[in-house]
Amino acid sequence: MRKYDPFRRLLGVIVLLWALACSAGALAHEQAVPARQDSFCTAAATPGETVAQALADSSRWDCQTRRHSIAPEVIMLRWQLDPDLPLPHYYFTQRNVFAGLTLHAVDANGTIRSRHYDFADMQPSWLESTVMAHLPEITRDTVLVVAEFDQLTHPRSIAHNFLAEDDPGDTREGRDALIPLAILCGLLMMPLVFDVAFYWVLRKTFLIWHGVQVVALLLTMTLFSGLSRLVWDLPAHVVSTMNTLLTGISVACVLLFARSIIEQDALHPWLRRALVWVAAWSAALSVLHAAFPFVLREHQMDLYYVGFMPCLLLIPAVLVDALRRGSRAARYQVVAWMPLVITGMVRQVSMFSPLLAPTDALWMFYIACVFEVTATAVGVADRFMIIKRERDLARAQRSALQQLATHDPLTGLLNRRAIDEQFCDLHRSGYETFALIDLDRFKAINDTCGHQAGDAVLQTCAEVLRSDPDALAIRLGGEEFLLLLRGPDAPARAEKLRQAIALRVAREVAGLDRVVTASMGMVTFPHAVMPNAVFADIYVRADKLLYEAKATGRNRTVSETLRAFRRRDGKERRASAA
Ligand code: GH3
Ligand code: MG
Ligand code: MG
Repeated sequence: MRKYDPFRRLLGVIVLLWALACSAGALAHEQAVPARQDSFCTAAATPGETVAQALADSSRWDCQTRRHSIAPEVIMLRWQLDPDLPLPHYYFTQRNVFAGLTLHAVDANGTIRSRHYDFADMQPSWLESTVMAHLPEITRDTVLVVAEFDQLTHPRSIAHNFLAEDDPGDTREGRDALIPLAILCGLLMMPLVFDVAFYWVLRKTFLIWHGVQVVALLLTMTLFSGLSRLVWDLPAHVVSTMNTLLTGISVACVLLFARSIIEQDALHPWLRRALVWVAAWSAALSVLHAAFPFVLREHQMDLYYVGFMPCLLLIPAVLVDALRRGSRAARYQVVAWMPLVITGMVRQVSMFSPLLAPTDALWMFYIACVFEVTATAVGVADRFMIIKRERDLARAQRSALQQLATHDPLTGLLNRRAIDEQFCDLHRSGYETFALIDLDRFKAINDTCGHQAGDAVLQTCAEVLRSDPDALAIRLGGEEFLLLLRGPDAPARAEKLRQAIALRVAREVAGLDRVVTASMGMVTFPHAVMPNAVFADIYVRADKLLYEAKATGRNRTVSETLRAFRRRDGKERRASAA
């Protein structure tokens, strides 16, 4: 039967509340869309061709489709200005790299005013994944606006473009629309806190990979949306590069996370190795794509997506293999990755389908990412509990074994092995009195009162010896004990304990026909004069004194203080002679 686990239930409730909050946030999110001019026509052009030439041939302009090849070196977008709308001041496009952008304002009399921009000159807008640029002066006489792109790198750049008076995201409503996203980001802190707390307890690498993944997702979400502008106003090209790099980092983290969380024997070694290689490849792919966006220009975006194919093939292979081998961690991953896979499919279909405009499916992507991170966090918590339980069990076993190896089972006192190993450290920390105690005529007690009574005497004797908080009591064997003492009046305290044995035994052990006394041989060996004292030497010394005590009538103590003098070195000798 499964045990009731309050932690698991609490976790379930937290995750449920959290998922509800995320969904509410997503539903409440709607980007503000004030008046803007977004119906335009497109035309391919050749380098060197002027706007006037392109505008002259109206048959070249396509006003229907939003799916265009980006193969032509130059692509123009043309707006017929709507006189009923306020005059636009800005041009908005998607944040995808291009080599150059020239904006033209064409007046009714044929006058053309132009402005040129590089991608690095574009300003980020408050709208998601959108950048903007100032139009040339627009007057009441302006009838057309033309955006002339030089070397586009992404088909989405033609799909979403518009003109507006101001940044439509830079309004109260526009900023309010960021609140749900901010909440979502805030909630993402929770798995991060979990990761840090768990890592504190268990130094496991999968917690690092998960943590990095959460941070990458947080950065992606704040950079994709306008949210990051509340903190830093980064230029568009920096944001674009960071986004690409973050994609690579996230994918690599997901793979490395899977590698380290899937149980040791639940994945084929080849697949485990493949996860590292594909993670490295994904990271390298993003770096190359971000650094050299124009090498294969119009094909690069498609090839970039295709480049993630090994990852898309490897993930199902890993999951299937791990599930077949009974991996518990893989079950959480299947659930976690499902919405991301669906989002990926929507994106791919929209990229290649002739019926749909290419879409980022951005909110779907956010929710899927957040879901992935949450479900994974639950998997992490589950794994954490399992590993912690296993570790606690192993620790308990180890300490039980250690207890057995270093303690005497009858009295619970330390045994000789325990003290032998630490003798030097104990001496250094002030244990300078070594008292060897042996019960007198103990054999006779066994013989007349029975072995059980003998055991009871040994146990009572042990209790007496351990009553001094500044003394270590050790059973060396049979009825021979060692007391190591430190602190003031150690010899006197040892003597008191020796004498207390007879009284306590008489009081507590029933059925004895005599008084049980003890003899003691005691050596005081100050650390200052014997810094390198060895257990065996002191023991021999104390044993001699104990023998003396026995020989002179028992029930007594013979003690001495060792005074071995340190030899002075030549320098000291010369100093004292002078
Ligand atoms: P002395 O005063 O000279 O020390 O005499 P003694 O009889 O105490 O010394 P001896 O070494 O001759 O006897 C020790 C006895 O301790 C022998 C053994 O039966 C007994 N003994 C050793 N270990 C145990 C134990 O764990 N339990 C009991 N009940 N007796 C033990
Ligand atoms: Mg004895
Ligand atoms: Mg003995």
